[in-house]
Amino acid sequence: MKYESYTLKNYHKMSKLKFLPETDIFDMAVVGRVLPFKTNNYVVDELIDWDHYADDPLFTINFPQKKFMDPKHFDIISDCLTSHADRFAMDKAVDGIRLALNPHPAGQLDYNIPEMEGNKVSGIQHKYSETMLVFPAQGQTCHAYCTFCFRWPQFTGMSEHRMALKQAEVSAQYLKCHPEITDVLLTGGDPMIMNASRLEVYINALLTSGAANLKTIRIGTKSLSFWPYRYLTDTDSEKILELFRKVTDAGIHLSIMAHINHHREMSTSAFREAVKRIRETGAVIRAQSPVLNHVNAASDIWEKMWLDQVSLGIIPYYMFVPRNTGAHRFFSLPLVKTYEIFREAFSHVSGLARTVRGPSMSALPGKIKINGIPEINGKKVISMSFIQARSSDWVEKPFFAEYHDTACWINELKPAFGETDFFFERDDTDASGLNAFDDDTGILSSIMALS
Ligand SMILES: *Cc1c(COP(=O)(O)O)cnc(C)c1O
Ligand code: SF4
Repeated sequence: MKYESYTLKNYHKMSKLKFLPETDIFDMAVVGRVLPFKTNNYVVDELIDWDHYADDPLFTINFPQKKFMDPKHFDIISDCLTSHADRFAMDKAVDGIRLALNPHPAGQLDYNIPEMEGNKVSGIQHKYSETMLVFPAQGQTCHAYCTFCFRWPQFTGMSEHRMALKQAEVSAQYLKCHPEITDVLLTGGDPMIMNASRLEVYINALLTSGAANLKTIRIGTKSLSFWPYRYLTDTDSEKILELFRKVTDAGIHLSIMAHINHHREMSTSAFREAVKRIRETGAVIRAQSPVLNHVNAASDIWEKMWLDQVSLGIIPYYMFVPRNTGAHRFFSLPLVKTYEIFREAFSHVSGLARTVRGPSMSALPGKIKINGIPEINGKKVISMSFIQARSSDWVEKPFFAEYHDTACWINELKPAFGETDFFFERDDTDASGLNAFDDDTGILSSIMALS
């Protein structure tokens, strides 16, 4: 299958556009100016149900829509378009709105970028002791863009990523200098956008590093959902699979961290064949997704998703809470609701699907999981704990916030029982302060720092 991508520049070529009324096409062009838009022929022809596009979860996660934006913002761009404003006026309006969408939430650009021999190491993030993240410079785009993506600024050119010379060697060197690291996670964007030879440079550097501490290589990717032909008919599909086998033959665990938002993404024969071929290499596929309003905000969707994953040999891994950036006004759900969805789905699947963890917020201090909503001394509270934390000492120690039925992120919660702060705020001189509860910057800055 030949890959054809559609963006704001060539969307007219999509024949399926005939299903959309003119007003929706105009709205898409407006919103697509502010938030990134890219889709492809597989998503359009095999995933989206065009007869019911308005409520279709796959359409929603791929196509910019009016309801994603503040009406005031929408009108500004819409006026620019209808009045044929010049490029300068349009860019100015777009930049202003993007900045209002919280593109770099924590505002602290220096977190999580490691140093080696006194120099900042670009393209790497090392936050949790055992796992190092690598952002291959050539892997910072995707086969299609998710409308809810928290990395959206990187696709608009707001945070530029430059080529990193010797990035693969530097990652391998860093790994060797840090014996506590067991896992290397290649992430993006989507590393599976790279051709096999590029990917091989990164994998080879790790395999030949001589670092005995390396146990697992993970690859975070949406390719199984957005372009399964990556493993079937691309010119280098066989080479990709050989590379996977090379990792497992070396005695290193290879885990494909598949991003799957809805069970419909797993329904095509291309998806299923791709899963089969990947598993034949000895790699294991794990699945993760945010819980999103208007996409998968119902426990029966998650229940089916986890059941289908287990039957395909995919291990359910994470349910995330979406971050407060970009189009979050449309996709966010109250934390207590995410917990209810999780609990309801989790309680109806067998133990093999209960490997999943969540709902989890990736915040600056760590990955915070909602454990439950117990009543203590006659008062409802929200119980949470760290799955991962900046300080490993904080992991799996329950802490409590006052009940709040609309809060969508940790910064909206107050400690319970009259406490003035959460225990980790007292403990951490580095990451205290409520506005430091969002973690996007670590990732974005490591991309921006590539030089
Ligand atoms: C989630 C995450 C990891 C991996 O955590 P696991 O619990 O091992 O899956 C590593 N680094 C960062 C920054 C993360 O957000
Ligand atoms: S595939 Fe991942 S990085 Fe790419 S747009 Fe979707 S969520 Fe963002």
